[in-house]
Amino acid sequence: MINPKLPGIYYGGDYNPDQWPEEIWLEDIRLFKLAGINIVTLPVFSWAKLQTAEDVYHFEWLDKIMDLMAQNGITVCLATSTAAQPAWISRKYPEILPVDAEGRQRTHGSRVNFCPNNSKYREFSVKLARKMAERYKNHPALLVWHIGNEYGSYCYCDTCAREFRNWLQNRYSNIDELNRCWNMSFWGHTVYDWEEIVPPSYLNEMGRDYFCGYPREYTCFQGISLDYNRFMSDSSLACYRGEYDVIKAITPEVPITTNLMGAFKPLDYFKWAKYLDVVSWDNYPSIKDSMGNIAMRHDLMRGLKAGDPFMLMEQTPSQQNWQPYNSLKRPGVMRLWSYQAMAHGADAIMFFQLRRSFGACEKYHGAVIEHAGHENTRVFRECAQLGAELKALHDKILDSRLRSRVAIIFDWDNWWAVEFSSGPSRDLRYVEQVEQYYNALYQLNIATDLVPPDADFSKYEIIIAPVLYMMKPGVAKDLEQFVSNGGVFITTFFSGLVDENDLVGLGGYPGELRRLTGIWAEEIDALYPDMKNTIVVDVPSGKMRGKYQCGLLCDLIHLEGAKALARYGKDFYAGWPALTENRFGKGKAYYLASAPESRFIRDFLKYLCDSKGIRAPLKAPPGVEVTQRFKGNYEFTFLLNHNESDLRIPLNRKRYLELITGREQTGSMKLKARDVAILERKLLE
Ligand SMILES: [Zn+2]
Repeated sequence: MINPKLPGIYYGGDYNPDQWPEEIWLEDIRLFKLAGINIVTLPVFSWAKLQTAEDVYHFEWLDKIMDLMAQNGITVCLATSTAAQPAWISRKYPEILPVDAEGRQRTHGSRVNFCPNNSKYREFSVKLARKMAERYKNHPALLVWHIGNEYGSYCYCDTCAREFRNWLQNRYSNIDELNRCWNMSFWGHTVYDWEEIVPPSYLNEMGRDYFCGYPREYTCFQGISLDYNRFMSDSSLACYRGEYDVIKAITPEVPITTNLMGAFKPLDYFKWAKYLDVVSWDNYPSIKDSMGNIAMRHDLMRGLKAGDPFMLMEQTPSQQNWQPYNSLKRPGVMRLWSYQAMAHGADAIMFFQLRRSFGACEKYHGAVIEHAGHENTRVFRECAQLGAELKALHDKILDSRLRSRVAIIFDWDNWWAVEFSSGPSRDLRYVEQVEQYYNALYQLNIATDLVPPDADFSKYEIIIAPVLYMMKPGVAKDLEQFVSNGGVFITTFFSGLVDENDLVGLGGYPGELRRLTGIWAEEIDALYPDMKNTIVVDVPSGKMRGKYQCGLLCDLIHLEGAKALARYGKDFYAGWPALTENRFGKGKAYYLASAPESRFIRDFLKYLCDSKGIRAPLKAPPGVEVTQRFKGNYEFTFLLNHNESDLRIPLNRKRYLELITGREQTGSMKLKARDVAILERKLLE
């Protein structure tokens, strides 16, 4: 449980009382209670109000609002307010302001606009966090700590350059080792002194150019750029950890988090998760995003702490303000997507924001309390309905876990390396490739975990590693172990090529995966977007038969023990293997040599899941998402109807208690358009 002090689903969101006169606070609290809100996050951006000069702090207003919350039975997710330093700090210590990748120092403004290695930022932020922890450690409203907000800036200042050199000296034993790992013999880059190293930026290794009219970004030295990303992720993490450590020492029982952002490229969240007591994240899809892509991000966030329940820290009750087109969530969608988060492991459903601000860029961002200022709005009514439903669920679902037999490997270092790569194709996007495989499983309603490459693979029966370009030490061995014990492993083109420094493993692709996959990829062909090849299935397996389209990249592979299940249909490599299967110990390893149309991936994964007896919990019509969470002897099946029409769902001849309506369901049940059901069933002991 996130914090046993509140043994129910957390429901609430970001509240900015400092943007409003005190007269409104009581009215807000009345509305919060009416909406079933039991937690507010505050004060996320109030550093300027909390600290007006070097040693002058003002907590009286915060005391008052904290007391009001406690008196009204509302808990607080207490933010340390350190995401936007006051103007006086930027003015007095201008070196706190970051330098961008083009060498320009920024001026004061916006947010997360500080150098993560600046000692004054670290000193002031930790001091504020300590003061808040000491002041509120015994406050009855305190439930969760929220450090900073949406970390993620990169800086290229002289301080960062110096700290980068220190970071490198910790990573590499000596300068020769660094020269080797970055392959500095290339273009005469060899360095003889750590001081000769500068951060990779648009002033040196990085660049933007135009190719056929498209702007593209690149780096000339992947090893340097990779290490700079790692260093920058670690630098922001060090800011977070500075605050984490002081708060933890003062309130060891109170969970600490910071709000993450799903598949957010700049920060390696698997590394961050070790210092989060609970994962929380901000989910802002557009109404055009696929439900599978949203589900994948929930599963990625759940995967950060090996399946522990997470907090949906922010979502909008109605619309965003920062997307190109900020459509309203249609009636029922906010509720449906909130339950989707729960269906994937969330124990907290929270909004940004509770009251809509009236100035600056978030004034058109949706809120529980709209500009009208009262409860007679569509959005408020929907929020209040959900609040009442969550309250009625009590602690039923709290702390339950999903059980997945399939996992997809996801790795930030790999993501950076794939997209830093100069060639073979500018169109190769790591997350898009992962989404292809995830979405195929999502459509089959098969529970899937997203795991790092050093995860415990023994929990799974199928492991998929799309575009596992970078092989970290030990991973190939772990995968061999997994397959020889009977596991099914699937990998694709552009896998196994480099080590963690982006150096190619010599002797033939896919390098360390060659033994496991039983193939040798001799060449990699890159196709223009209008060029396609076909995959012709040799050995019909399940629904996988006939011809499928493929493109992007085509590996030209030789069999070294594997057998071909499908071959290319065109070009000079027509007849060469496109999908191979290799028996390895008690299991099998598959290599998919090109990027096929999604129908192929769905048919292929369906065939493999069938072969392992892995299937959906219930047979549901298309557009109905089905997941399960488990606790003790109880199973909770979530049915989410993403369709705009009512449907009937067969229930496997079992007897269920539907938790939202309290009705017993058996045989089949009707699920209205955009409606949700949570079916409870006691398992046999
Ligand atoms: Zn800096």
